[in-house]
Amino acid sequence: NTTVYYDDDADVSTLDDETVAVLGYGSQGHAHSLNLHDSGVDVVVGLREDSSSRSAAEEAGLRVETPDAAAREADRVVMLVPDTVQPAVYEAIEDELDEGDTLQFAHGFNIHYGQIEPPEGVDVTMVAPKSPGHLVRRTYERGEGTPGLIAIYQDATGDAKEESLAYAKGIGCTRAGVIETTFQEEVETDLFGEQAVLCGGVTEMVKAGFETLVDAGYAPEMAYFECLNELKLIVDLMYEGGHMGMWNSVSDTAEYGGLTRGEEVIDREGMEKILEEVQNGEFAREWINENQAHRPAYKQYRAAEENHQIEEVGGGLRELFAWGEDADQEKEEAPAD
Ligand code: NDP
Ligand code: MG
Ligand code: MG
Repeated sequence: NTTVYYDDDADVSTLDDETVAVLGYGSQGHAHSLNLHDSGVDVVVGLREDSSSRSAAEEAGLRVETPDAAAREADRVVMLVPDTVQPAVYEAIEDELDEGDTLQFAHGFNIHYGQIEPPEGVDVTMVAPKSPGHLVRRTYERGEGTPGLIAIYQDATGDAKEESLAYAKGIGCTRAGVIETTFQEEVETDLFGEQAVLCGGVTEMVKAGFETLVDAGYAPEMAYFECLNELKLIVDLMYEGGHMGMWNSVSDTAEYGGLTRGEEVIDREGMEKILEEVQNGEFAREWINENQAHRPAYKQYRAAEENHQIEEVGGGLRELFAWGEDADQEKEEAPAD
């Protein structure tokens, strides 16, 4: 019973009398600004003076200004610089937010955890593709789209939802489907997911599996294939057909073994603790302090990850075997039917 919004529920011409300032030209920034531009929306990209992205944006036919100049002429300012940089960029554009303007995000961290406090009189919204930027752009160019979220934090004008849907249509998301959420729900589910399951959970499970096999005397190459490389094949099956699609494709032995043994490696209390620290703001505080201290712990964790045996083994194997980008591309370019 969730409402899903499609193309018919939105009208890009709602944005006809607007100038949209897209701040940042990275993963999301390039995709939003190019898609909006192709959808007929007036876009200006906001980039710092010495930005290495300036020429790419200009060559793509976009107008580029500094963030404050872009925000000055814009009715909608879209924050698409990294989340850790947003508070500083916000300070530079804060005075350019006029009554009735919109401040828009693609992730709720800085609003939800109070790192950006916009004035009353300004709409504060989110339009967030559930996809990396290069796919937001690539699918749009093919006449398709990626699913997306909208959320309204502050609706000063009364138009926030209609305009968010129009923007979502302008970047192609209503072609795939858009659902409405809140800043709180988006942030808390996003942080929990990337920590417990997607980025953190999966890498730790892969490393633990790899180490268990290698410590028991098995060849690191075998451990790599089994615990990391094949993961993609399994995830592709889940992506296409859910768990049953995956179970139906693997052997009955794999299915029985997985169903009876899998739960053994899951720590539910650990997951609940992760969720609690997201909900009570402890994780956000830690990450904000870590950034203020120029990321000492982050650098240590990264170095340990870089130096893990699985990286060396994998690097060697990826050079020897044919898979990865070329193979993917072949699949992408194969006829769709
Ligand atoms: P990126 O890291 O790709 O952003 C890079 C852009 O930000 C570049 O144009 C860069 O400018 C600019 N930038 C970086 N540092 C500064 C700075 N100090 N001052 C000014 N500009 C700076 O960001 P993402 O696209 O990954 O993320 C943008 C937002 O979208 C975030 O809120 C994120 O959570 C959200 N989001 C991201 C998704 C993703 O898949 N990446 C998915 C959904 C939401 P320069 O070119 O000058 O280096
Ligand atoms: Mg303005
Ligand atoms: Mg995330």
